[in-house]
Formats: sequence, C-alpha cells, structure tokens
Amino acid sequence: MLPVIALVGRPNVGKSTLFNRLTNTRDALVADFPGLTRDRKYGQANVDGRQFIVIDTGGITGDEEGIDAAMAEQSLLAIDEADVVYFLVDARAGLTAADQGIADYLRKQEKTVYVVANKVDGIDGDSESAEFFAMGMGDVQQIAAAHGRGVAQLLDLSLDPL
Ligand code: GDP
Ligand code: MG
Repeated sequence: MLPVIALVGRPNVGKSTLFNRLTNTRDALVADFPGLTRDRKYGQANVDGRQFIVIDTGGITGDEEGIDAAMAEQSLLAIDEADVVYFLVDARAGLTAADQGIADYLRKQEKTVYVVANKVDGIDGDSESAEFFAMGMGDVQQIAAAHGRGVAQLLDLSLDPL
C-alpha cells in the first residue's frame, strides 16, 4: 500500500495547486474562486522517487450548508482515508475562524497532522507562522505550492516516519 496524504483546509488556501504540483498534472481545478473542487480527487504522485497517493478536497469552512456541506463531508472522508493530513493555511491571509474550526476537528482525530502555511513567497513566512503555531497543532511547515518552495522538505518530514 502506498502512503496516502490528504490535503485539507478552507477554500482558496492552495490545496489544488499543491495537488497539481505533487501529481504533475493540471487536473485539479485551480481558480481564484474558492471551493471549486467539489469532490475529493485522487492522484498518484512520484516525487524524487517517493510514491504516494494524494487526495485533494474542496475545502471546509466550518459553517456549511448545501453544496458546502457536501464539500465538507468529502474532506472528512479524505481525512479518514489518509495516513497523513496536510492542514493547509494561507500565510497571506493569516489565521481565520475557519482555520480554528478545522483545527478543532483535526485535534479529535487520531491522525498525524502537519500544519502547512502556503503562499510564503514574497512575505515574511516566519512571523505569519507564529500565528498558526498558536493553534497548538505543532510546528508550521512553510511552502509556496505555486513555486515548489518547501515541498521537498515537507515530503521528507512527513513520509520518512511512515
Ligand atoms: P484551493 O481552493 O485550496 O484548492 O486553492 P487553489 O489551489 O485553487 O488556489 C487558490 C489561489 O491561491 C489561486 O489563485 C492560486 O494561484 C493561489 N496560490 C496557490 N498557491 C500559491 C502560492 O504558493 N503562492 C501564491 N502567491 N499564490 C498561490
Ligand atoms: Mg481546490
């Protein structure tokens, strides 16, 4: 069995951008419109000789109704299926109430979770990360999914212990 990584987080944090980078596809919908990926989407990744499955999700806001509730449900199923969860947050937007809600949910799961602060290109990632560290979910890994920065280190950190 290949290790399974689930990408979760609120809409627009860059989950699909990271999915596309890891799977070398342009399959997942990436848009300036939040929440476009309605369903969970599986991809097989082979990065520097590491093989794994990655699951993209539509995103959780913590306050779902209608289509948003279905998206949230897909995220919860993806978390169940995963060995490791990447909890993506947006370093440009900073900590939001939705992030806090997702953190509360993840804390109750028996899963290995890595907080991943995306979009650190061109900003002071360290000062933004302090805010996310205060969620109490452990160290914050900084990446720029759009450019690939920090991605190899994140894979080393999260896949080596499996
Ligand atoms: P999702 O809703 O979480 O799947 O987010 P998307 O992958 O669709 O990305 C949302 C927006 O963030 C898009 O406009 C992306 O181009 C942008 N984005 C994603 N990753 C990065 C990054 O590393 N740096 C910057 N500056 N923007 C990013
Ligand atoms: Mg998406």
